[in-house]
Amino acid sequence: MAIRSHGRKSIAVSAKPRDLMGESELIGVWTARILTLYPDMFPGILGHSLTGRALREGKWQLDTTNIRDFGLGKHRAVDDTPTGGGAGMVLRADVLDEAIRARPVTGPLIYLSPRGRRFDQAMARHFAAGPGVTLLCGRFEGVDQRVLDAHNIFEVSLGDFVLTGGEIAAQAIIDATVRLLPGVLGNAASTEEESHSAGLLEHPQYTQPRAWQGRSVPDVLLSGNHGEIEKWRRAQAEALTQERRPDMWAAHQAAQSDKT
Ligand code: SAH
Repeated sequence: MAIRSHGRKSIAVSAKPRDLMGESELIGVWTARILTLYPDMFPGILGHSLTGRALREGKWQLDTTNIRDFGLGKHRAVDDTPTGGGAGMVLRADVLDEAIRARPVTGPLIYLSPRGRRFDQAMARHFAAGPGVTLLCGRFEGVDQRVLDAHNIFEVSLGDFVLTGGEIAAQAIIDATVRLLPGVLGNAASTEEESHSAGLLEHPQYTQPRAWQGRSVPDVLLSGNHGEIEKWRRAQAEALTQERRPDMWAAHQAAQSDKT
C-alpha cells in the first residue's frame, strides 16, 4: 500500500515537462550513463511501457555521451585497424578515454562485451542498489585493451553470442535493473516472486477466461484456498526448474541445505 501511494505521488511529479534524454540532470536519481556511437538509439525500448513511464516520472535518468564528439580530425575518427593485422576496426583508447573523462562516472564503469561476466538477476539487484551504471557500448571488433586496463573497466556480457554493438545489451541491462528500482513496478511483490529471484523459475500463470478452447485453468487456483494455491505454485516452480534448469536446481538445493 505504501508503495502504491508513493507511485501516485510520483505521477503528479511527471506533470512537469522533462527532457526524455535527461539533459536536465536530477540529483540523487538512479542514472544510466551511456557511451555510444549511436546516442539516437536511446532511450529506444526503454522509452516505452513501465521503464518509459518511470523515465518520464524521474525515477531514473539517462545521460548519453556521443563517442563521435571526441573523434579525431576533420572526420572525427574514432577507430583504426587492429595492430598486428586482422579484420575490422578497433575503437581507439585515446578517443574513448576522452569520452569517459567528459563527465563524472556514475556507479561501476562497464564495457559490454561477449568476453565479460554473464549478466544475471543478482547483478541487476546489485546495480539497482547503487547510484547507477556507466556503460561503454563497443562496435566493430571492440575496443583497445589499454583503455579497459587504464580505467579498470569491468566487462559484462549479455550471453554467449556476439552482437554487432553494445547498445542492445545496454538496454537489456538497464531494463532488468530499472524495474527493480523502488516504485517502478506498480506491485513490488512481483519482483520477489518471479523467475530468478528466489532461485527458481516461476510457476505457470493463468487469467480469464476460465475455459478456453477446451482447456480449463487448474482447479486449485479457483479454490480460494491461498495455502493450497501457494503449495501448488511452489511445486510447479520446483518441477519446472528441475526439468529445465538442472544447474539452477542444484544451486537451489545446495542453498536450502545450507539453511538447515
Ligand atoms: N570482436 C569481439 C566482438 C565485437 S562485437 C569479440 O570477439 O569479443 C561488437 C561490440 O558489440 C562489442 O564491442 C560489444 O560492445 C558488443 N557486444 C557483442 N556481443 C555482446 C554480448 N554478448 N554482450 C554484450 N555486448 C556485446
